[in-house]
Amino acid sequence: MGGEFHRLIRPQVYTQMHYAISEVTHMDMGELWSHGEEFAVAARDFLGWCGEESIYCTWGAMDLTELQRNMRYFSVENPFPKPLFYYDIQKLYGLFYKDGVKPSLDTAVEEMGLLENRPFHRALDDAYYTGKVWARMMEEWGEERLLPYRSVDYYRIPDNKKEEVRMVFPSYSKYVSRGFPSKEDAMKERSVAEMKCYKCGRMLRKKVRWFTPNQKIYYGLALCPEHGYLKGKIRMKRIDDTQVYVVKTLKLTDEDGALEIMARKDDMRKKRAQRSREKKKRMKSGQNKKTR
Ligand SMILES: [Zn+2]
Repeated sequence: MGGEFHRLIRPQVYTQMHYAISEVTHMDMGELWSHGEEFAVAARDFLGWCGEESIYCTWGAMDLTELQRNMRYFSVENPFPKPLFYYDIQKLYGLFYKDGVKPSLDTAVEEMGLLENRPFHRALDDAYYTGKVWARMMEEWGEERLLPYRSVDYYRIPDNKKEEVRMVFPSYSKYVSRGFPSKEDAMKERSVAEMKCYKCGRMLRKKVRWFTPNQKIYYGLALCPEHGYLKGKIRMKRIDDTQVYVVKTLKLTDEDGALEIMARKDDMRKKRAQRSREKKKRMKSGQNKKTR
């Protein structure tokens, strides 16, 4: 363990603390007011303490986004590279131990037998435990297995085509697009819609074209002549009222995985057909009432 940095921040936007937060953090507004510092001062000190070439490790995907949101609000210059890569230890723990399911920090700490006489949910303690979990994972799996699984922070998305992010991991590939005015515009873009095998680089023909059951996640399926089925997932993410961007992941899968995508599409079709039947029925009965 290298060192630690800990500051309390004086609240400047919210004037009340939810009792549940006060309970889990053992902290109240009075304490923050009397011992807290201004965010901008603490943030600059923290960034200085980290130094320029730091690699950030977090539990979950929110911390760096939240930090940068606050930095912008309080006019602290953002020194992070773009894209900002980091390690989401929660995600890695899920990938390596739990088949992709992300556990709470309490659970991971307990499963690894790392519990100490130290509470959870205060920033420093959570950082401490996250460090412990990461160190143990490094012992168990080694850098070579773990370090390829970088995450990319989405607070500042790519500004243009050149900044778009393409990553290939041992078991999947990921692409982060620039912003588009609408979902439809995004889906029209070639780099969004294409499915390229991440093992051989072949551009693949789709077996199932992109479809979405909920307007948020799109699914697709393609077949590589050499590597088999490739399933795709596109997550539509909204930045604000004027822009969306996509995060696309492609993953090789087997026959069962391919069937699952096809079944999902079938299911969506059936539901849609049923909705339109119900709509017709409603219109009909509406007409009947009128004629009566
Ligand atoms: Zn291939």
